[in-house]
Formats: sequence, C-alpha cells, structure tokens
Amino acid sequence: MPFDFSFTPDQEAFRAAVRSFLEREVAPIVAEMDETEEFPASTVKRMQTEGYFGVPVPEAYGGLGLGKVGYCILLEELGRVDASHGTIVGAHTSLGTTPLLYYGTEEQKQNWLVPAARGEKLLAFSLTEPGSGSDSGAVHTVAERDHDAWTLTGTKIYVSNGREADAVIVMAGNDVKLGPNGGVTAFVVDKGTPGFTVGRCEKKMGLHGTSTAELLLDHVAVGPKNVLGEVGKGFHVAMTALDVGRVSLGAASLGGMEAACSAAADFAKNRTQFGLPISEFEAIQFKLADMAMHIEALRYLVYHAAAHQDRMGEDPATWGRLERQSKTRESAIVKCLASEWASEAVDEALQIHGGLGYIRGTPIERAYRDARISEIFEGTNEIQRLVIARDVLTRGL
Ligand SMILES: Cc1cc2nc3c(=O)[nH]c(=O)nc-3n(C[C@H](O)[C@H](O)[C@H](O)COP(=O)(O)OP(=O)(O)OC[C@H]3O[C@@H](n4cnc5c(N)ncnc54)[C@H](O)[C@@H]3O)c2cc1C
Repeated sequence: MPFDFSFTPDQEAFRAAVRSFLEREVAPIVAEMDETEEFPASTVKRMQTEGYFGVPVPEAYGGLGLGKVGYCILLEELGRVDASHGTIVGAHTSLGTTPLLYYGTEEQKQNWLVPAARGEKLLAFSLTEPGSGSDSGAVHTVAERDHDAWTLTGTKIYVSNGREADAVIVMAGNDVKLGPNGGVTAFVVDKGTPGFTVGRCEKKMGLHGTSTAELLLDHVAVGPKNVLGEVGKGFHVAMTALDVGRVSLGAASLGGMEAACSAAADFAKNRTQFGLPISEFEAIQFKLADMAMHIEALRYLVYHAAAHQDRMGEDPATWGRLERQSKTRESAIVKCLASEWASEAVDEALQIHGGLGYIRGTPIERAYRDARISEIFEGTNEIQRLVIARDVLTRGL
C-alpha cells in the first residue's frame, strides 16, 4: 500500500479557518496576557464557541469529530501563535476529555464529556503530587471506600487549568500497597464538591496565561458515578491520556518551531551588519537550515503518530498489547524530539535576533520562556527515554 501523508481538503480548510481565527482573535492579546499573567478568559470563551475545545471528540458527544489529526492541526496552529492557549486546550482536551471518551460510562459522557466538548465546561487533569512527580504511580492521595461511597483526601500540585476548571480528573490511591497496577483509581470530581478547593497558584517562567494550581482534597465525598474506568486501573487511564497529550504536545512544539524559524528568517533578511543583510552569512543560514530540517522531520512524526491513534479508535478494550506498546513508544519519541528541537529552535532564533531577542516583550523572548516546559511536563524527557529504551529492550526495534 502506498504511503499518503497528504491532508484531506476538509483538514486543510480546518487549518485555514483556525489560522485566520487565531491571527484575528488571539495574536493581538498575547503580549498583554504574558505581561499581566492573567488567564485569557475572553479568547478561551471565543475558542469554546468555535468548538476548539472538542476537536477530536465525536460529534455524537458534542465535539467536531476531527480525530487526532484534526486536533494536532489545531495544536500546531496554536503553537505558532501562543503556547499558553495551546496548553489550556491541551490540558482540557488530551488530559481531560480523553479519559471520559475512552473510559467513561454513557452517563459520565453525558454529564461531563458533552459539555466539555461543547465548550460549556473546562476540564483539568491531576496526577502530580508533592511527593510523586516522575514516579507518578506512587500516588499519596487516598481514596477510602465504604461500599459505594468514596472519600478522597490529599494534595495535588501543578494542575494546568486547575484554578478555572469546572471538573478535574483526579488520580487517587485505592490501595497504596498495590502500586500503579491495581492501586490507583481515576475519579472525575466537580469543583464545588465540599472539601475540594484550589490552593496556591504558581508564578512561572513562561506560559503566563495558564494557571498551575495546587488542589486540596479534604475528605471529598464522591460516589460510583465519579469513578472513571475500573477501580485500580487509574494509572492506565492516566497513561492513555498522556499518550494523546504527548503527540499533541509535539504538534504544539512543531508550531512553535515554525513561528521561531519564520521570525528568525524575516529578521535576518532585514537586519544589516557589515554592509549586508545577516541572512547572507553562512553562520545564520546554517541555523535556519537546522530548524527547517527538524520541522520537516517532526511534521511526519507528529501526523504519523496522530493518524495511528485515529486508526486505533477510542475503545481501549479493542487494542492489542503490541499496538498499545507501539503507540506509547511513538508518543514518547514525538514528545521527546519535539520538545528538544523546539528548545533548540527558539534558542537559535533568539540568537539570530541578537540583543533584541533578549529584550522583554519581544515574541521570541516569550517563545524562549514558553518552550522550556515541554521538556518537563507530561513526563520529563528522561522518563520518555526510559519508556523508549524499555520498549527497545523488550520488543526490539
Ligand atoms: C507548568 C506546569 C504544568 C503542569 N501541568 C500538570 C498537569 O496539568 N497535571 C499534572 O498532573 N501535572 C502537571 N505538571 C507536573 C509535571 O508533569 C511534573 O512536574 C513532571 O512530571 C516532573 O515531575 P517533578 O516536577 O516532580 O520532577 P521529579 O520527578 O522530581 O524529577 C526531577 C528530575 O529527576 C529526573 N528523574 C526522576 N526520576 C528519574 C529516573 N528514574 N531516571 C532518570 N531521571 C529521573 C527528572 O527527569 C527530572 O529531571 C505540570 C508541571 C508544570 C511545571
């Protein structure tokens, strides 16, 4: 069978619509948002109205039904304009709607997925704790069970959208002794549930439009309708969502690299030193060439992985073990390469801008601060390398 890497006319039309929307509505507010460090509520509302918070969710559940490829198109375009908006959409969609779509009951889909995809509710995903980051299966938040009733107690940190979300996917330990396989359960918890409060919000190097919040659970009473997937299988729920997240994060990094490369090329053509535009110097040209090579390679990687996830469908029960493993390896490869190439691209693009690149408020200075987190969140790149190496050692290439 021939390989076909082209987008359909509908996908191209979606990209064009998103690009023009973002240029018109989002680009003009980004510099001020970065300075004030405020959540961009009005542009988020506009994006929700456009359906951009439910792109991969099937139309039957209130989404646009454009699959992971459509979703990556959105994230790539967001990456070109603003990483904060990309993170808000990503935390909500990859990490919030995926667990509901893949593991939710029909009742849970109607209660949480449909309003989330329609943009009526914002979601967040909460795995990380003060004592459990990379070792994410070592959850300390306790889920105590009394027949059908559950009580959740613990502290979660670094939750993107944590301050604004209407509901949060929370990982809690139903039996600490069992560890990640059998000891962690996923819950969907509404804000406003007694005992569930937002704690401190972090000040950050970048992503100034996003909240990164502490969530406090003090004997939060929930019931069977809040249990997402099987009891004890929450770690699988989290990892499946992260597989989606890592590919979309790759798409956002791709967009960021495209913007950095274009800005650097434009600047180089217009900045004259030694009587010539600096674009005439090979030292500058080689930086642009390296960026272009990475961009080209990443385009294939991102959309290959997204199309693979689309082919696998949305019912984890139908996935074979090998298929699951190759999806996880692919997602880790995309995330790791994309985030490192993006950091390199913004660094070199900043260098091409010279002193101007270091001046607060220039787009490349913001992009430099925004890009760094992608090597850390959704699993650090050290953890991605462990995932990839373990798979190579067990399955081979
Ligand atoms: C802005 C932001 C947004 C975030 N959003 C969310 C969110 O929405 N939901 C959520 O649940 N979490 C979120 N996180 C948390 C994020 O996923 C974690 O910070 C990340 O997984 C790393 O965990 P840690 O910070 O505890 O670092 P640690 O796990 O303490 O790691 C410290 C260092 O040790 C390395 N290390 C650890 N173990 C190993 C090992 N076995 N081998 C080699 N090196 C190792 C790490 O790679 C890292 O370099 C967010 C974080 C930030 C900063």
